[in-house]
Amino acid sequence: MLQDDPLANVLYVNLSDKTFSIKKRPELFERWLGGAGAAVQLLHEECPRDCDPLGPESPIIFAVGPLTALFPLASKTVAMFKSPHTGNLGESHCGGRSAVAIRMAGYGAIVIKGASDIPVYLSVEGHRVHFRHASSLWGMGCYSAGRIIRENEPGAGLRTIMRIGRAGESLVTYSCVTTETYRHFGRMGLGAVFGSKRLKAVVVSGKSALPVKDQKLYRKAYRQIYRAAVESPVMKKYHDLGTAENILPLNRFGGLPSKNLQQATHDGAQHISGENFAEHYLGRRLACSHCPVGCIHIAALREPYEGEPYFYKTSMISYDYEPIYALGAMLGMKNPADFLKLMDRVEAWGIDAMTTGVVLAWATEALERKILSEKETLGVKLAWGDPAGYIQACELIIEKPNDFYQALARGVEYASSRYGGQDFALALGKNEMPGYNTGPGAHLGVLMGLRHSHLDNAGYSVDQNQLVKEEIGPEKLAEILLAEERWRQILSSLVICFFARGIYVPELVTELLEIAGFPLAKDDLERIGREIYQDKYRFKLREGFSLDKLRLPARILDAPSPIKGWDEAYLRRALEHVKKILQAN
Ligand code: SF4
Repeated sequence: MLQDDPLANVLYVNLSDKTFSIKKRPELFERWLGGAGAAVQLLHEECPRDCDPLGPESPIIFAVGPLTALFPLASKTVAMFKSPHTGNLGESHCGGRSAVAIRMAGYGAIVIKGASDIPVYLSVEGHRVHFRHASSLWGMGCYSAGRIIRENEPGAGLRTIMRIGRAGESLVTYSCVTTETYRHFGRMGLGAVFGSKRLKAVVVSGKSALPVKDQKLYRKAYRQIYRAAVESPVMKKYHDLGTAENILPLNRFGGLPSKNLQQATHDGAQHISGENFAEHYLGRRLACSHCPVGCIHIAALREPYEGEPYFYKTSMISYDYEPIYALGAMLGMKNPADFLKLMDRVEAWGIDAMTTGVVLAWATEALERKILSEKETLGVKLAWGDPAGYIQACELIIEKPNDFYQALARGVEYASSRYGGQDFALALGKNEMPGYNTGPGAHLGVLMGLRHSHLDNAGYSVDQNQLVKEEIGPEKLAEILLAEERWRQILSSLVICFFARGIYVPELVTELLEIAGFPLAKDDLERIGREIYQDKYRFKLREGFSLDKLRLPARILDAPSPIKGWDEAYLRRALEHVKKILQAN
């Protein structure tokens, strides 16, 4: 069915000998839809068991889906790899122009293996692939590298530029890959995998045509989704204030972690709220390709040059809920300009903002408790609310001048195993916690989530919408989260932005797949979601993951929680139940 559809094309690149080939793999998309479903099959095929995630044999896989470039909000690319941060499944989703560019270049997936002897960037222009010298870009930040590549590569407007900054080059295990300046494959360390291959960037562009059999049906369905996207109040919220809108409600709920979760509210929340940013700093809004919502909020930070009172430098800096939580509330920031200054550097260096905030918060508390001293920090003073020390520390995390910064460059799980302070090292499944101290749903969701992300199953939402009203036992909670995560395998295989999950319900998804040439019933989707989930879990087990070995930081259990009546035994029972269900499948 897919033989003539460019979606069936998989581009295989070998950086070691600078070769490439294109293979038809229709079964990947017919059987697994695309995105996460196709990517995990390729990961099983291409990633040798127990391989070094930063070794040449470790693959990078990008995949998009059958609705990409056809329907609004099918705008994400799924990246899959072995995570250098957790040692098992690495999966990260990113928008920008990446998904549409890959599909329009004539591919459903791209697999990159090997390692180059010199810094390179890959330029994919339709079915032409160029290996460009990148020695002059090596050492540059994400902003500068993007600017130079933009000037030199064809395909303006259609092209994606996925690149790393200095953190990726330096193999910081939580370095990210940035696309279109403000979007990221943020978590799990894809930037370090790029760096280990001396791959500075991947540029993709093309102008394929997409086959649609029934134009009339297609246009009708398109209009329906478009209207739902621009008229829904939820989407309006994302457009108006972006995810930063969540700061004040979560603070009121008692679910906004602050100062390394020593508090669950932040006394500076009003200052770093979405409302305050929108009123005083908002410079522009942006959208991923083929999205009518435009939730990306960019602040304009105007700073005078020293000694030149009437000369200003204006920086455009993106902000969202998660970076504001991690680099703002977690670090005790009350001044929005201070948060933006730190965010700007983190963006330029290409380190994941969420992980970085949690790492710095742990180090600040460890210094306060005298577990660490300025001997380890090389004189850098880390103090709540002070951006200068945090900026210096980030620079040293990337430079790794001593054992301490080398440890920090591997995250809090590792750093606390070396220096102590594990009780307040806020990693779940070795991934630093997201900005939700909403209750057991949030914590269990990240622990059992296949990529240890709050987006795996939205446990934070179960806390705020269900657990506040009724008591739910651990087994039932585990089942609710498992069902949601299995459905999200379908959404992430179709690469739908999760913000549109209220629009892309199963009935509509089957209709759209029919139009795109993939006739599947609702039951088929349920089965495929379960199978993709199992395949990812299988990869994790293969690489040594165990639900029994998950560490629960005492701070998570001791912090004030808006939901009462749960404890460590509750979470362990829930995890035990997940394990039983997965073993039975
Ligand atoms: S809603 Fe936001 S993140 Fe989602 S596709 Fe649109 S712009 Fe991108």
